[in-house]
Amino acid sequence: MSAHTLTVAGVAVDTRHWVGGERVTSAETFTDHSPIDGTVLGEIARGTATEASAAVAAARAAFPGWAATPPAERARILHVVADGVEKRIEDLAIVETHDNGALLRSHRRGVMPRVAHNFRFFADWLLKLGHDDFATRGHTNHVSWDPAGPCVLITPWNAPLMLASWKIAPALAAGDTVILKPAEWSPLTASLLADIAAEAGLPAGVLNIVQGYGAEAGSALVSHPDVRRISFTGSVPTAKTIAAAAAANLVPASFELGGKSPLLVFADADLDLAVDLAVEQYDNAGQVCLAATRILVEETVADEFTRRFTEKASALRQGDPRDEATDIGPNIHPRQLEKIDGFVQRALTAGARAVIGGHRGEGQFYAPTLLTDVAQDSEIVQEEVFGPVLTLQTFADEDEAVRLANDTRFGLAATVATGDKARAERVTAQLVAGTVWVNCFFVRDLQAPFGGSRQSGVGREGGTWSFDFYCDLKNTVTAPRGWRDHG
Ligand code: NAD
Repeated sequence: MSAHTLTVAGVAVDTRHWVGGERVTSAETFTDHSPIDGTVLGEIARGTATEASAAVAAARAAFPGWAATPPAERARILHVVADGVEKRIEDLAIVETHDNGALLRSHRRGVMPRVAHNFRFFADWLLKLGHDDFATRGHTNHVSWDPAGPCVLITPWNAPLMLASWKIAPALAAGDTVILKPAEWSPLTASLLADIAAEAGLPAGVLNIVQGYGAEAGSALVSHPDVRRISFTGSVPTAKTIAAAAAANLVPASFELGGKSPLLVFADADLDLAVDLAVEQYDNAGQVCLAATRILVEETVADEFTRRFTEKASALRQGDPRDEATDIGPNIHPRQLEKIDGFVQRALTAGARAVIGGHRGEGQFYAPTLLTDVAQDSEIVQEEVFGPVLTLQTFADEDEAVRLANDTRFGLAATVATGDKARAERVTAQLVAGTVWVNCFFVRDLQAPFGGSRQSGVGREGGTWSFDFYCDLKNTVTAPRGWRDHG
């Protein structure tokens, strides 16, 4: 085994970057820890401007060939990548669980199959594009979806491969080449994807991966003048820095950011369903951008809702994410745990009451927490915690519910629990959110537009919206006259 390989539960992972179809080292490394028990997984090549430039150069060199590859052939290769992901679901799942602490059973049965589906979906969707010719006074308009060039993709740690593939797949399908910079707290499955893509026959330089810190590798990539698109998923402060870099080169950028999404529970709702939806918000230890962390309950059912919620949430099993019986795993990093606890302790000091939780657990765990007696303008109601922390507020009527729901700077998602269809329509029409779920949560179809309003994002991805972003659209107008007859 090479000095550049680490093993996670018997699975070998190359710790170097992947640039131009080759493994590349750096002078320095950073240490990757497992959130499960804090053990060191290994030393990872730490990219700087040098590796960033090399990766952009490789993506640029590979671009003409990949862009000229017929769409059907690009789609075929992406399906082979999906086959490779499917063959290695177990390896990917175990490595991701060790790297970011999310549940092994979700990685096995939900997340990694979805990664494969991302590749299949965008490969197939590509082949549906471009058949929308129309006529103007006898002239034909033909819209083509031209590849744009090298794209920089920057992703967070909470769902590493899922979020990376949700960007890589449409970009590659579109004929672009990419440089992925995975999050420094969970870089490992991206490296496995490089192996899978190489085995699938993806040409050298089409997919490049540069590991490292945001302020080093990330900022060098987003400010590189040869980049044609930047797609970012992460926090609002980082997005603002990247937006400034994108503005300097006038590069289109897409942002999928944080949220403080509400769950509105009306008195006419199926209360057990509403409680299930609320408890689901602890998934991934609360590290889900879409999580409905503000529970808003109609006051007439608030006591009963709280009673049933407490009973259900108290039965959640927190523990080793590799254990099939575990419901909630650890949080990603000691720094994240400190951040979460800071929010909770400040809220308690300000007068909040912990219905459950309100403190750290053992090791890198945070007790599932529900805080009540919280003011609408307080930090705990307005800021994203990104941990297993929910707040509960009550409302008197529909108007107040909508007002509270919309009263943050975010607008990523909202969930409504009601038994009344007319109310569902009235309320959803007024909510500011990229996605609204009614009596359900996290049902996501890749052809739907996905993104956030206000500070939750800029742009939409999914289906045609992804290709809108990753392509240079061109309209060709052809006249009926001026043709030589070649007989
Ligand atoms: P983060 O912004 O700290 O980091 C995200 C990525 O950006 C990392 O890869 C990081 O290295 C990189 N980065 C940091 N500084 C950079 C810079 N100056 N230039 C270029 N890259 C830089 O976010 P995080 O803590 O990793 O992720 C959590 C956040 O992501 C939460 O706010 C969450 O809501 C959000 N998120 C949003 C979605 C969505 O689809 N809307 C999905 C998942 C997570």
